[in-house]
Amino acid sequence: MSPETLQIPALSVDSTGFSPAEFDTYVMQTYARFPLTLERGEGCRVWDTDGRSYLDFVAGIATCTLGHAHPAFVQAVSQQVQTLHHVSNLYYVREQGELAKWLVEHSCADRAFFCNSGAEANEAAIKLARKHAHTVRGIAEPMIITAHASFHGRTLATITATGQPKYQQNFDPLMPGFHYVPYNDTAAIEAAIETLDRDTPRVAAIMLEALQGEGGVRPGDRAYFQRIRQLCDEKGILLILDEVQVGMGRSGKLWGYENLGIEPDLFTSAKGLGGGIPIGAMLCKSACNVFQPGDHASTFGGNPFACAVALAVCHTLEQEHLLENVQQRGEQLRSGLEAIAHKYPTLIKEVRGWGLINGLELNANVDLTSAQVVKAAMAQGLLLVPAGPKVVRFVPPLIVSASEIDQALHALDRAIASF
Ligand SMILES: *Cc1c(COP(=O)(O)O)cnc(C)c1O
Repeated sequence: MSPETLQIPALSVDSTGFSPAEFDTYVMQTYARFPLTLERGEGCRVWDTDGRSYLDFVAGIATCTLGHAHPAFVQAVSQQVQTLHHVSNLYYVREQGELAKWLVEHSCADRAFFCNSGAEANEAAIKLARKHAHTVRGIAEPMIITAHASFHGRTLATITATGQPKYQQNFDPLMPGFHYVPYNDTAAIEAAIETLDRDTPRVAAIMLEALQGEGGVRPGDRAYFQRIRQLCDEKGILLILDEVQVGMGRSGKLWGYENLGIEPDLFTSAKGLGGGIPIGAMLCKSACNVFQPGDHASTFGGNPFACAVALAVCHTLEQEHLLENVQQRGEQLRSGLEAIAHKYPTLIKEVRGWGLINGLELNANVDLTSAQVVKAAMAQGLLLVPAGPKVVRFVPPLIVSASEIDQALHALDRAIASF
């Protein structure tokens, strides 16, 4: 674009010389951003460009597992980048093998495929499920059942899998082969399978989150998932769990499905896996591993850098006993949120979650949105993220301390008192 046609608005520049207005001139406006620019982080704290500090209960949306600038993370990043950062999957990648081994030894899966994001991991799972349906079960037009209020990513296949029209609008034609049911509703999924499979088997897979994250922090129901496991076993349907948000320790167990007393046939991970560097994984049991050389690939997927860092995150989870911390701090956070809910019964409907993924739902009949609460909390030095219009989400780093939970609860109380 020539200088004459560039329209740069009057710039309001902060103390570091950064201009949000200039940013908006060059960057596509696909996000409704809060007026905040972060510059530095340490542990569970981040600082903005004016030097104000915030408790980070967003963690890059459930991503910065070890918080910011954790020594083990910094060490892994710098060491691997100085050794070998990227090579093609034309060759053996030692770090990829080590990460796959750790994940397999710490889950129900037997094999791992690596990519770069949650959506890509789910794409891999959808492809595997379709190939399994075609080659093992002889299904000509495989169907995948997913849930209303789910979230599986922003690619065309994953917005189709996502049971929320707002993510699909104007992007049609969507992908064929998906059917939606209400979440945690056993009768509805039994009826859907019955209908879809009436003439000939068509249901290839059921794809669900163990706890719905974006859709409003809704934990899965044990009896529901156990019935689905039973149905899948009876009919040869694959059970895919999207563990992108709830996996990697966030629920207080390493994987969300451990809270439900079942094992999936395949599951996906991303967000917390790399502690903030981009990596995704699709893991499956041997019985459904139908991928052969040439079936699926990713240029960056499983490179030495991403895998070495993710492996450091995995080792730190173990060495620092972070699952125990998630359980204890999760209890502390939930009981503090319950107390706040009791204090403001007209505003708050309920608190729910597992470990360090929790949601506070606002009453439907009050004129208060999750974004308004998030803004008020920001003014009190606490970063939070909405999960839909009425749910405020709490997803701090898994290293969060007891005193940081207390500080966050006080900040939230002050924020809610302002309404
Ligand atoms: C965030 C998320 C995704 C998408 O992950 P990206 O890395 O943004 O592609 C998929 N599934 C769930 C459950 C998520 O929370």
